[in-house]
Amino acid sequence: MRILISNDDGIHSPGLAALAAAARPFGEVRVVAPDVERSSTGHAITASHPLTARVTAIGDVPAQRVNGTPADCVALGLHQWPGVDVVLSGVNIGLNLGHAVWHSGTLAAAKQAALLGVRGIALSAPSAMEGDVSPLAPWFERVLRLLLVESPEVPLVNVNFPRDPRGLVWTRASTAGYDGRIVPGRDPLDREVFWFTVAPVASSEDRSDRWAVEQRWISLTPLSLDVTDDRELARLRGVLPLDDATAVRVSPPISSASEAKAVRAEESATAGAPGPRRDDGSPR
Ligand code: MN
Repeated sequence: MRILISNDDGIHSPGLAALAAAARPFGEVRVVAPDVERSSTGHAITASHPLTARVTAIGDVPAQRVNGTPADCVALGLHQWPGVDVVLSGVNIGLNLGHAVWHSGTLAAAKQAALLGVRGIALSAPSAMEGDVSPLAPWFERVLRLLLVESPEVPLVNVNFPRDPRGLVWTRASTAGYDGRIVPGRDPLDREVFWFTVAPVASSEDRSDRWAVEQRWISLTPLSLDVTDDRELARLRGVLPLDDATAVRVSPPISSASEAKAVRAEESATAGAPGPRRDDGSPR
């Protein structure tokens, strides 16, 4: 089994080394991780300058440090190493619960794998452990055995460890509370500054990821990349039907520069006229 590991805490994180060590018995392991900490950078990619990948090592695991985001690292790692079976991200120093799915670089690395058709598993531990995640090592082994060997192939999973686990549970991502807060402060020159930080919220949702970790369970949340609100979509199609997209000519995809030029010429010739609509419903 080919296992690619990344994170958002950076190449020097003890959580990354702990995950690489835990993964070794399960297959061939390589690490591609950001050269500096990129926590809370979400699913950003680096499009404005080139990426560099410098060879380094984590114990005897081959590794590269990249001047990019977690998503960059996974895309690059999968490009360089064909046939990867699973991407592991973490172990993050800091939990990634509930709405953290929107901010977390740890989760973005796992999601980037899923976008490229590879299984992704994000793993996070409490920041209160201050980087020493070694007490969790037996549980890392247990979770990897579950997700890599025993369980059916869950495509995308978010795993959060409490400090002192008593077992594993499947959960859903909490949506009841949002923990992001703006907290004002002063800089050394007594000017006002603001921290966008996290304030603890208590969970009221049974069987959510936040609830599970509060109850000392290891939380395993299967995630989906499908963000469409199906209930709203069905309601809107009922109460506010728009054009019947099935009734119009569907343009074939544009596959070359010359074809794109021809389409633009056709569009400018018919500009102002209501005209046909593309299959996405936007006016041409
Ligand atoms: Mn992090």
